[in-house]
This record gives sequence, C-alpha cells and structure tokens, in this order.
Amino acid sequence: MDTQQVVISGGGPAGLWLAAELRLNGITVTVIEERTEVDQRSKALTVHPRGV
Ligand SMILES: Cc1cc2nc3c(=O)[nH]c(=O)nc-3n(C[C@H](O)[C@H](O)[C@H](O)COP(=O)(O)OP(=O)(O)OC[C@H]3O[C@@H](n4cnc5c(N)ncnc54)[C@H](O)[C@@H]3O)c2cc1C
Repeated sequence: MDTQQVVISGGGPAGLWLAAELRLNGITVTVIEERTEVDQRSKALTVHPRGV
C-alpha cells in the first residue's frame, strides 16, 4: 500500500494540473469532481498573461 495518497476536490485546471504533477512524482491521486457532465460553456476564450 502506498504511503503517500492524495485526494483532490475538483477536476478543474488547478486540480488536474496538481494531479498530473503528483502522479509524475509517483504519488497516488484520486480526483473527486462534483459535476456529472462536461460544461459546454467555454471558460478559456483566450490565454491571459500573469498579472503579477
Ligand atoms: C465564463 C468564464 C470565462 C472565462 N474565460 C477565461 C479565459 O478566456 N481565459 C482564462 O485564462 N480564464 C478564463 N476563465 C477563468 C478560468 O476558467 C478559471 O481561472 C479556471 O477555470 C480556474 O480553474 P480552477 O481549477 O481553479 O477552478 P474551476 O475551473 O472552477 O474548477 C473547480 C472544479 O471543482 C469542482 N468542485 C467544486 N466544488 C467541489 C466539491 N465540493 N467537490 C467536488 N468538486 C467540486 C467544480 O465542479 C469544478 O469542476 C473564465 C471563467 C469563466 C466563468
């Protein structure tokens, strides 16, 4: 059994990015997403530069 296991709440960009980074480092990840269907509205019409 793995000693390092992470549960991530939310399968948005932040949650999925974190999950990918953790998996690349051999950590077992479970992502829990409350939505049951794909949101058809676009939330990424353009790429914004960092504000800071
Ligand atoms: C209309 C709109 C247009 C946008 N356009 C752009 C754009 O053009 N360019 C740009 O760079 N950004 C844009 N954004 C912003 C961009 O979508 C967000 O910055 C980005 O989605 C944030 O990612 P996140 O992972 O932090 O949160 P989210 O994308 O909100 O993901 C969070 C996830 O967690 C899930 N969740 C929440 N609570 C729970 C819970 N208790 N249990 C399980 N799951 C849960 C939600 O269902 C969701 O899927 C836009 C946003 C909106 C609303």
